[in-house]
Amino acid sequence: MENQRETIQWERMLPQEFRQSFDKLPTVFLPLGTVEWHGEHDALGLDALKAHALCVRAANQSGGIVHPPLYGGMGGLDKPSTIKMEAEHSWENYLLRPWLEKMTSECHRLGFEAIIMITGHYGHNQQIVVREVAIRMSERLQIPVLGIPEYWLALDAGYLGDHAGIGETSLLWHLEPDLVAIDRIRNDPDYGKNERIEKGSSPELGQAYAELIIDRLACLAIAMPKWAAEKRAKFVTAERSILSAQIQGWRLQHPWAAWQNIHLEAVKQYGQLLVEEKFDQIVELSKQLRANTTSNG
Ligand SMILES: [Zn+2]
Repeated sequence: MENQRETIQWERMLPQEFRQSFDKLPTVFLPLGTVEWHGEHDALGLDALKAHALCVRAANQSGGIVHPPLYGGMGGLDKPSTIKMEAEHSWENYLLRPWLEKMTSECHRLGFEAIIMITGHYGHNQQIVVREVAIRMSERLQIPVLGIPEYWLALDAGYLGDHAGIGETSLLWHLEPDLVAIDRIRNDPDYGKNERIEKGSSPELGQAYAELIIDRLACLAIAMPKWAAEKRAKFVTAERSILSAQIQGWRLQHPWAAWQNIHLEAVKQYGQLLVEEKFDQIVELSKQLRANTTSNG
């Protein structure tokens, strides 16, 4: 074998590398993001760059193949340099959902036995569509398809998701050090209105979050192709229980109603429970997400 090229990035592979990676582990990573304003201090492609870098590092541990990131999704801020493909606050969805369905179908057609969609962009509708597609395609394709934001794998480390805040800034600072200019936050009337993000963000914090996410992604990438029908069914039930809580909360109160309880200790165990395949316990924790969402609907 001459000149084996070390890469797990689909677009950088020659056919020989693709065949060898595929034979070693038939799991594909689909990183999702967008281009969106992330303050004066963070690169505009933060969401996709972050998701892609996490998937690449995970696949370097586990094997598997990483598809190029998708720049485009649901919602986006009313800010400069931001592409808004579809509305954030609409139940209607004509671009992202069919795109993800086709993409997962294509990966299945090529023979992949597990699909991991990681969205680094996480408006509420983006999260719903990604998880919804994953659940439906898990059943339609009869292979496990996971569809979550990366921070759901780091809740127990204290990262509950933000936008250009301490979590995202720290992750990007660690993953792509040249793409954060923390001093420029002082020119930003929103993110720089106080010193919270400037003082709270660091590449070290980003590294701690990233390592946990990467380890869990690598575990899942190795395990998921082996999930037989019964385990897949439990996985689907678990993911649907979380999705239902989110959708019902939106219907009954507001889009973020279920996520108001994301800080609860039981909910923060999601990442660990997923890796340990304790799907019944994920169903249990989803009840915490409903706790305050049905009372005054
Ligand atoms: Zn972001």
